[in-house]
Amino acid sequence: MTLIIISLYINLNFAFPMVDSTVFTATTTPFETLSHAQLLKIVSALPDAITPAYVYFEDYLLSQINALKQAFRPVDSAIECNIRYAMKAQSNANILKIFAREGIHFDCSSVYEVMRVMGAGVDPGCIELASQELTKGQLDMLRKIPGSEKVKFVASSAIQLDTLLADEQFKNQVLGLRVNPGFGSGYHSKTVVAGPKYSFGIWHENLDQIRSDFTVRKIHSHIGAGSDPTYWLKSAEYLMTLIEKRYPHCEVLNLGGGFKVARGDLDKAIDILPIAREALEIVTAFNKRTGRTLKIEIEPGSFLVANSGILVAEVIDRMSTRTETTAGEGHNFLKLNTGLNEMTRPALYGAQHSIRFFKRETEEIGSETIPMVVVGHCCESGDLITCDPSDSNALREVPVPASLQPGDFAILKGVGAYCSAMSLKNYNSFPEAAEVLVRSSGEAVLIRKRQEFGQIAQNEVDVV
Ligand SMILES: *Cc1c(COP(=O)(O)O)cnc(C)c1O
Repeated sequence: MTLIIISLYINLNFAFPMVDSTVFTATTTPFETLSHAQLLKIVSALPDAITPAYVYFEDYLLSQINALKQAFRPVDSAIECNIRYAMKAQSNANILKIFAREGIHFDCSSVYEVMRVMGAGVDPGCIELASQELTKGQLDMLRKIPGSEKVKFVASSAIQLDTLLADEQFKNQVLGLRVNPGFGSGYHSKTVVAGPKYSFGIWHENLDQIRSDFTVRKIHSHIGAGSDPTYWLKSAEYLMTLIEKRYPHCEVLNLGGGFKVARGDLDKAIDILPIAREALEIVTAFNKRTGRTLKIEIEPGSFLVANSGILVAEVIDRMSTRTETTAGEGHNFLKLNTGLNEMTRPALYGAQHSIRFFKRETEEIGSETIPMVVVGHCCESGDLITCDPSDSNALREVPVPASLQPGDFAILKGVGAYCSAMSLKNYNSFPEAAEVLVRSSGEAVLIRKRQEFGQIAQNEVDVV
C-alpha cells in the first residue's frame, strides 16, 4: 500500500499522465465480476424476464462515492470540498436517494431536474441549478413547489442573471456565475463544453459586462466530460486568478466534473487521487497567499454512476456479408435486442462499451471466437454497438464466442451514466427498458418498470 502511494506522489511531478494505478478507485466493476448465476437472478427479477434492462449496483455506487470523499477530503487538508452529483447522468429517484443518504448534493441541468430531485424527497437546500435554459415561466413553475425557495442558482449568461435578479423570490438565492474559462477538454469534441466553440457559461472576456449590483459568492466552471486532468487543473488555476482579481466575496470555486472512467477496453480511466491532491494544493496555496478561505466543489456525474451500471440484453440474430466477392469489405454481424434507443453514446460520441457474453443454459461458452461487428436493433446503419472510437460510423470487429445463438445474453459495460437518462425513447416504437437495482444485500429489485406498450402512444390525440 505504502509503495503504491509513493508512486502516486512521484506521478505528481509529471504533467498528469493518464495513470493506471488506483488506490481509492475499485479496478473491477460489476461488469467484470458478474457471474452466470447472478445474471440469471437479475433476469428473473424482470417481469416476464423481458430484456433489455439497465442494472445498477448499489455497492459499486457507494465505493465510487467513498473514493471521491477520500480523495477530496483527506484528513490533512484544511480545504473543504463539497461533492455535487450531476444528476443528468442518471436521474432515477432511487439512485438520487442513495446519493442524498450519503450526504451528496445535487447539480441540476434544468428546472425539471430540480423538481425531479425534490420529488425524490431531497432537501432543496442541497440543490443547485446551473442550466442552459432558465426562463421566467420556469421559475414561476418552480415557485409553486414547497421548499423551492431554498434552491440555489448559478447564472450561465447575462440574460439568465437578469431573469433571476428580477425575481423577488429567487434573487437572493443566486450564488454566482458559470464561467467559460476560454478552453475546454473532453474525450470527444461533443463532450467538450468550454472554449470559443461552446455556448456554456459566460465567456471569460465578457465578465466586465456583467452587472455589478450583485455579489458573486461562487464561480462555477465545467470544461467537459472525460477531460484531460492537465486542463481541468489549468482551469482551476485560471479561475483562482480570476477570483483573486475580481471577486473579493467569492467563497466557493466549483470545478465541475468530467473525470474520465473506462467503459470500453480501449478507454483509459484517470486516477482521481493525484488530481484531487493537486487541486487541494492549488487552493491551499491560494488561501495562504491571499488570506482567504476559498472552498472547492466538484460536480461529477460519470465518475459516480457510469460503471455502477450494466445493460443486460439478448442476442437476437447473426448474419454475414462476408463472401468471396466481398472479401475486404464484408463483415459478420451479431445483433442484440438493444441499441441506440437504450445506449445513444456510441452513435453520438463513438463511445466504447465493453461486452461480455453468456450462454443462457450453461456457464460453458467455449473458447472459439469469430470477429464480429455487434449492432443494435434499430433501423439505422448508425446503430453500431462496436464502432471505431474515432469514427462512430466505422465498424469495429470484436471477438465474439462462436457458440452464441439467439436467446443468449450480452452485458454491456458502463451504462450507468448518460444511457437511460439519454435514451432515444420509443424510436422504432420499442418500449422504454426497465431498470433494476442490485442492493448491497445482493437482492435485485425493479426500480423502473418496463414501459407498457400502450404508454407509447398515450399522449397522442386521435383526430383523423
Ligand atoms: C454534465 C455536467 C457535469 C458532469 O459531467 P461528467 O462528465 O458526467 O462528470 C458536471 N457539471 C456540469 C455543469 C455538467 O453539465
